[in-house]
Amino acid sequence: MQHKSHALVIGGSLTGLLMARILANHFDLVTIVERDVYPDQPMPRKGVPHSRFPHTLMLRGQQIFEQLFPGLRGCFKRQLRL
Ligand SMILES: Cc1cc2nc3c(=O)[nH]c(=O)nc-3n(C[C@H](O)[C@H](O)[C@H](O)COP(=O)(O)OP(=O)(O)OC[C@H]3O[C@@H](n4cnc5c(N)ncnc54)[C@H](O)[C@@H]3O)c2cc1C
Repeated sequence: MQHKSHALVIGGSLTGLLMARILANHFDLVTIVERDVYPDQPMPRKGVPHSRFPHTLMLRGQQIFEQLFPGLRGCFKRQLRL
């Protein structure tokens, strides 16, 4: 049987999703273990209570996210109707 590398990320919020995206470049399989169920729409959830508060992503962070998830900035703009 061929050996496959497998990375495990605990927590699928901002850091976990970002980490999983980066690990996907280096591992055959990446599994995210998240205790919440993701809602269908962007909304606060139990595991991320601070998501109720307004958040700002600084410019360099936006650039890094856009590199890793092309088109993400456009999604934010549509969400915020900018
Ligand atoms: C009031 C407030 C305002 C802020 N404003 C800003 C801002 O403007 N700009 C900014 O950059 N940052 C801001 N921050 C900081 C930012 O919110 C955090 O740095 C960020 O949310 C951390 O993300 P994270 O993915 O590391 O953790 P979290 O977002 O806390 O996510 C942790 C995840 O792990 C999951 N989890 C927890 N335990 C388990 C388990 N045992 N098994 C499986 N899953 C588990 C949770 O359900 C959750 O999905 C603010 C924070 C607060 C409190």
